[in-house]
Amino acid sequence: PATFIDVLRERAAAQPDVEAVVELGGRRLTYAELWDAAARVAGGLRAQGVANGDRVSVRYAAGVDWVLGFWGTVLSGGIAVAVNTRSAEPEVAFVLENAGVTLDLAPGTALPDGEPYAVDTATAGDVAALFYTSGTTGRPKGVPTTHEAFVANAENMIRCSGLSRDVGADYRTLISVPLFHVTGCNSQLLVATYVGGTSVIMPQLDVGALVEVLVAEKIGYMVTVPAVYALLLRHPAFVDANVSGVRVVGYGGAPIAPSTVQEIQAAFGDATVMNGYGMTETASLVTVLPDRDAVEHADSVGYAVPSVDIGIVPISDDPTIGELVVRGANVATGYWERPDADAETIVDGWLHTGDVVRVDDAGRVHIVDRIKDIINRGGENVSSIEVEAVLLSAPGVVDAAVVPVPDDVMGEKVGALLVSESGELDLDAVLDHCRENLADFKIPQFAVVSGETLPRNAGGKLLKKRIREQVQWGDP
Ligand code: ATP
Ligand code: MG
Repeated sequence: PATFIDVLRERAAAQPDVEAVVELGGRRLTYAELWDAAARVAGGLRAQGVANGDRVSVRYAAGVDWVLGFWGTVLSGGIAVAVNTRSAEPEVAFVLENAGVTLDLAPGTALPDGEPYAVDTATAGDVAALFYTSGTTGRPKGVPTTHEAFVANAENMIRCSGLSRDVGADYRTLISVPLFHVTGCNSQLLVATYVGGTSVIMPQLDVGALVEVLVAEKIGYMVTVPAVYALLLRHPAFVDANVSGVRVVGYGGAPIAPSTVQEIQAAFGDATVMNGYGMTETASLVTVLPDRDAVEHADSVGYAVPSVDIGIVPISDDPTIGELVVRGANVATGYWERPDADAETIVDGWLHTGDVVRVDDAGRVHIVDRIKDIINRGGENVSSIEVEAVLLSAPGVVDAAVVPVPDDVMGEKVGALLVSESGELDLDAVLDHCRENLADFKIPQFAVVSGETLPRNAGGKLLKKRIREQVQWGDP
């Protein structure tokens, strides 16, 4: 298929009665119902003046309305703007302004309704949606995503998980991550459409309910962020649950500690586990760590997906690490109305990921750190991710964030913010564990124990910028 409109149309014709979208606690739509309802939204949008290429923001909670707003816009020929529903008002205003939105599907507003319409001039290169980056390192950037990128990502996803397009109704995926980011939309919702399966959408993350849903909705596929697995595995309801129906367990979006991967392996028995690394700019996946490597190489994000070329650009004298650069059918060639970001990010056709990596002899990519998060301790580079992984396997530690602490002598020192279940922690035991597992210059000099959760964004990423600004570091 050239466009995702073709994908949906074909599915609605070939398997009209298969469930396409299920909103937990809400409506369920078959493929025929989804196509009809989306076409009516498209007709309504056209009647309200939306023309080809116009931007329509979708700001509903994850669920059937979101899916109809998205598909209605795409069928109208417009560009669906996926807006983070957790954003504060000024952040929303920034996105609506940057995207040049002419019609806002704001929370609480009804979807337009009209005569069924589906644009018939769409091509693979047309932009179908704008997704905004998470804003972890700065202001969110809008990424124009083409039909070609959607299709390439769906192909990568099915090839890496051993699926084919004939899976159909056997494919039931649980979406517990936001739909306004690429993992939920492109690698779950649209992949389900691509194989003719069912998206079961959880409007609001509820870890206890998630366990029940896995069984009640016969979920075979799930993808979520490391922070959610950490909560799930510890949840009392999960301990007794029979999750043997789950065949593929995916994680990604943020670094995961190898110890958490091992726990996932143990908890899901025979299921295939997969780490996926990607970015908004790549319509989701860049690399996938397959099941066969998941245990032995749990610190890796795996191999480049079929449609992506990868390269490494040196960032220092150290030849073993460098910045990962990517290009391919699912990789954006520029941001929306951000020439400054384009100039910084896209060089000679390669998109600079901002992630520092090491590639091993087998071709597996290991994320060392984001360039902006690497700690420079008197000339030695320290990967905050590596130190966090060690801390997460220390006794009593349930969460950890490692950030630089300004230091007059060393420039930067390694600081750790730790969360324990009780709010108290045996720091000597943690330090012993660090000494056993880390070179001395990587051992955190400062530790602040907190009984609260660490600040994360909707994609499960630690907000290190905020932590750096807010934590008052004391003596060890
Ligand atoms: P911004 O670009 O606005 O600062 P962001 O980079 O967090 O925000 P996203 O596009 O949502 O926005 O996230 C992509 C980043 O997430 C990657 O560059 C990488 O740092 C991180 N990431 C994604 N998947 C993984 C993974 N499996 N393991 C480790 N890190 C990951
Ligand atoms: Mg980014």
